[in-house]
Amino acid sequence: MKIAIIGGGIAGLSAAYECEKARAAGEPVEYRLYESRERLGGSLASEIVNGAVLERGPDSFISEKPAAAELCRELGLGDQLTPSNDADRKTWIVVRNRLVPLPDGLMFLVPTKLIPTALTPLFSLKTKIRMGLELLHPPRPGAQDESVAALVERHFGQEAVDRLADPLLSGIYGGDATQLSARTVLPKLVEMEAQYGSLTRGMVAAHQQMRARAAQRPAPSPGAPRPAPRGIFTTLRGGMQQLVDALEARLESTWVQRSTTVSTIEQNSDGWRITADGRTKDFDAVIMASPAWAVGALLKPVDAELGEALALIPYSSSITVNLIYDESQLGRLPDGFGFLVPAIENRSMLACTFVHRKFLGRTPTGKVVLRAFLGGMKNEAQLKETDEALIAAVRRDLSDILGEKIISRSTVPEHAQVSRWRRAMAQYAVGHQDRMQLVKERVAALPGLRLAGNAYDGIGIPDCIRLGRKAARELTTAGAATSAAAR
Ligand SMILES: Cc1cc2nc3c(=O)[nH]c(=O)nc-3n(C[C@H](O)[C@H](O)[C@H](O)COP(=O)(O)OP(=O)(O)OC[C@H]3O[C@@H](n4cnc5c(N)ncnc54)[C@H](O)[C@@H]3O)c2cc1C
Repeated sequence: MKIAIIGGGIAGLSAAYECEKARAAGEPVEYRLYESRERLGGSLASEIVNGAVLERGPDSFISEKPAAAELCRELGLGDQLTPSNDADRKTWIVVRNRLVPLPDGLMFLVPTKLIPTALTPLFSLKTKIRMGLELLHPPRPGAQDESVAALVERHFGQEAVDRLADPLLSGIYGGDATQLSARTVLPKLVEMEAQYGSLTRGMVAAHQQMRARAAQRPAPSPGAPRPAPRGIFTTLRGGMQQLVDALEARLESTWVQRSTTVSTIEQNSDGWRITADGRTKDFDAVIMASPAWAVGALLKPVDAELGEALALIPYSSSITVNLIYDESQLGRLPDGFGFLVPAIENRSMLACTFVHRKFLGRTPTGKVVLRAFLGGMKNEAQLKETDEALIAAVRRDLSDILGEKIISRSTVPEHAQVSRWRRAMAQYAVGHQDRMQLVKERVAALPGLRLAGNAYDGIGIPDCIRLGRKAARELTTAGAATSAAAR
């Protein structure tokens, strides 16, 4: 079985690794990994500067989804897994240049505790009254998909969209709450609305059920080994690049073609013909692990409707700016992991992480790493700005938001690094699930074709790994079954 893998981001690398495993197990598998850029890893990229780990792209993965930690362990990186420092977890939201903590009891954008919600300066009295009345919402079964903004506005009002949904989604996904699909991004809330009407009542009920289930679990026996500490997020001690390097080291190097862009794909009676940098090669199967807009362009001549559906999946661009300071240059930063900046604040940045606090042991003692996140659906134009202009804008925002006493406008960081990610983050827009249904049906009609990446069934690293490995496993096991039958 000859398999072409197009795209050497985490999805494509995971697919290639799975092919390599099948080959090592004696399966007749050959693969080629094509990557347009000189380096592998796609959005995953980190480096160590003056002893500090600087992540240019993702800084971690969510621990609840096991695929990423599992892969790291398989690759011998188990001892590098580092949990987020949740004891210090606290997130702030900027409200008129002031930092306001997210109120206690907030779950998936839903307030569940009366007193913290009543006391928070995040919302006006009008919004708080609306949040109380939300308990009376009638159930809404079988409703059509809608945007996250529409769902949140219907329950809690526009201020909850502006000060909560929008900053959380743009700070995390670079997304726009008015475009993102509620059914895809917040499926639990959509289910709760159908069942309970009120999201607050639904969330409280879900929480109580969870606690009841936990109480029924048998207590661990006194001598049992303690489970390793787990944070909400997990990273690698030396940076996410470690995962890319470990995967690359497992692959057959002559089958990895960097700086090679696939320009056409054709289906023929034997399988698939790939053209890359003017050379053609035939394969039995192909795993498309490039962004959906690139996959769409390649697949349009094969299946126009499928190509069009993929090309229409929106993507956002983002920018990260890492700044290293010496502690002596700054005043004391507020507690916690950092802050989110709502669009209505009209700032350059969408979010800032206090990197040295979020993950311990990745920044030298006495140093501070601040990472700003910019861009997103509403700010594509920022990508054209120079590094100097972006760094200056971030420094200005930091000083205005944190205050001159903590970080003055004239404080120059020891190191500044800008990374641009053009159309890298898929957006699950309203109607995403219908589009995916069509994509699934059309792909099923094209034997040997598989899709993997962040545009389909989960934006984060664990889902990309899961889909990449699944695609390769399906093809290699199908190939193994065919060759066994032929023997
Ligand atoms: C700034 C930023 C921060 C993020 N933070 C987090 C986070 O903290 N946690 C988390 O879980 N996720 C995070 N994400 C999301 C996550 O990183 C991505 O969803 C994931 O890495 C995407 O992997 P992928 O393999 O699908 O795509 P990509 O990484 O985009 O890789 C696709 C590859 O395909 C190549 N390619 C494209 N066209 C062709 C062609 N024709 N021929 C050959 N190669 C081609 C591209 O060069 C690219 O390398 C973040 C993303 C960004 C940009």
